[in-house]
Amino acid sequence: MPSSASETIAISISQLRADLTGRVIAPDDTEYDEARRIFPGGIDRRPAVIVRPADASDVAHIVSLARDSGQELAVRSGGHSIYAVSEGGIVLDLCEMKDLQIDVEGRTAWAETGLTAGEYTNAVGAHGLATGFGDTASVGIGGITLGGGVGYLVRKYGLTIDDLLAAEIVTADGELLHVDADNHPDLFWAIRGGGGNFGVVTRYKFRLHQVDQFVGGFLFLPATHEVIHSFMAEAEAAPEELSTIANVMTAPPMPFLPQEYHGKPVVMAIMAYAGDTEAGERAMAPFRALSTPIADMVRPMTYPEIYPPDMEDYHPIGAVRTMFVDAIDHDAVDTIIERLQSSTAMMTAAQLRVLGGAMARVPDDATAFAHRGRKIMVNVAALYEKPEDREKYEAWIAEFAAALNEGDASGYVNFLNDEGGERIRAAYPGPTWDRLKAVKRRYDPTNLFRLNQNIPPSQEGTGK
Ligand SMILES: Cc1cc2nc3c(=O)[nH]c(=O)nc-3n(C[C@H](O)[C@H](O)[C@H](O)COP(=O)(O)OP(=O)(O)OC[C@H]3O[C@@H](n4cnc5c(N)ncnc54)[C@H](O)[C@@H]3O)c2cc1C
Repeated sequence: MPSSASETIAISISQLRADLTGRVIAPDDTEYDEARRIFPGGIDRRPAVIVRPADASDVAHIVSLARDSGQELAVRSGGHSIYAVSEGGIVLDLCEMKDLQIDVEGRTAWAETGLTAGEYTNAVGAHGLATGFGDTASVGIGGITLGGGVGYLVRKYGLTIDDLLAAEIVTADGELLHVDADNHPDLFWAIRGGGGNFGVVTRYKFRLHQVDQFVGGFLFLPATHEVIHSFMAEAEAAPEELSTIANVMTAPPMPFLPQEYHGKPVVMAIMAYAGDTEAGERAMAPFRALSTPIADMVRPMTYPEIYPPDMEDYHPIGAVRTMFVDAIDHDAVDTIIERLQSSTAMMTAAQLRVLGGAMARVPDDATAFAHRGRKIMVNVAALYEKPEDREKYEAWIAEFAAALNEGDASGYVNFLNDEGGERIRAAYPGPTWDRLKAVKRRYDPTNLFRLNQNIPPSQEGTGK
């Protein structure tokens, strides 16, 4: 063990290879550059070693090694967050732990953390079953679950964590714990929204829902003031079976969009109705009536088909901000249209997700996600090409977000970037923050798991 906090002990790659069943990738291995790459672009960190564990005992070994050596530890499942890679430390990359045990009769599944949302959804979808994750197939179930999980089934079945029944987690002392409502209930509460602060989850037990009838797909509408405003009203009034994601954005040059719209603001809505075809078509009618659609790709489909295909080798550089609001009023619509039109970024978007339904029926204190009553989640983003433009677009997005913000700093932790301790604090309103800190002190008193949206164990302090 290092004798002071700043001291680290070097890692022996050959010893690691001898000790582990899984893979060890060192800087001179040919796959190193690919293995250190994460989804967000513009991040170029060089870890000392990347370990891809085969099982929970490999995970426990690495957790103990990181603790005893003082090396920084990055924990990674799908690699979509900015914290998925360390500069100079250890990356614990769980992507090869993909075991999935589906209990079709019992409607549950034990899933290892290395599965992506798409892999899990396809596998359980073969039985007409589903657990809700987010909007993107390549996102890891590991990261999204720990932050909450807001996706296509949010209004019908709630957040991903509302379907989490149990988990297995390696804590900072290297122990593998089974957590559920009866075992370590404090830890089970904390990992449902508190992120990767408490240990490394090796596998999750999820509830499965029957989702064997589904209507969904893209609906492109003109981004007029009236369409945006009415879309939000219709989305709130819609039955809970329907969850929508309205991306008001500059249109990408997609082949099915007429050329005159390329680069112009459009509403790219993803419509997701978890129910039968007839009722689904009825629920879509008010949206189709808002204006003649530019493209209407909504149709009966299997639930897994709602996930757009992942783009190969896509690593966007982006400035993003997330917030909750209670309404998108006329001023907010004007702001969105005006900002999108004046942007010089490669692509800009305001993503509007109407919440409510099953998500809102869970009490705020039942899990560490305490935004149950918030009506709308807004994410604004500017994607750009050159990392050196970061400052310019960060300032632009901060202004955009401030213009929409209703006066509180709260946001959804899974969409936070490196935005400082105050924003992490605000992601956990009410007594949630103090409860999380108490659990952190109990299970990770030295803050071994700190490369994340960090909840420090100290009595005081809001960030790293
Ligand atoms: C393109 C895109 C679309 C998205 N869409 C949605 C969406 O629709 N809904 C939504 O809710 N979120 C969405 N997100 C946010 C997403 O949920 C977070 O980025 C999430 O952290 C990604 O999980 P991951 O496993 O892919 O990432 P990783 O970077 O691998 O993990 C994220 C963090 O979680 C922790 N972690 C991961 N696995 C474990 C584990 N097994 N044990 C302990 N800690 C762990 C680590 O702290 C890590 O830093 C989206 C993100 C992107 C980039």
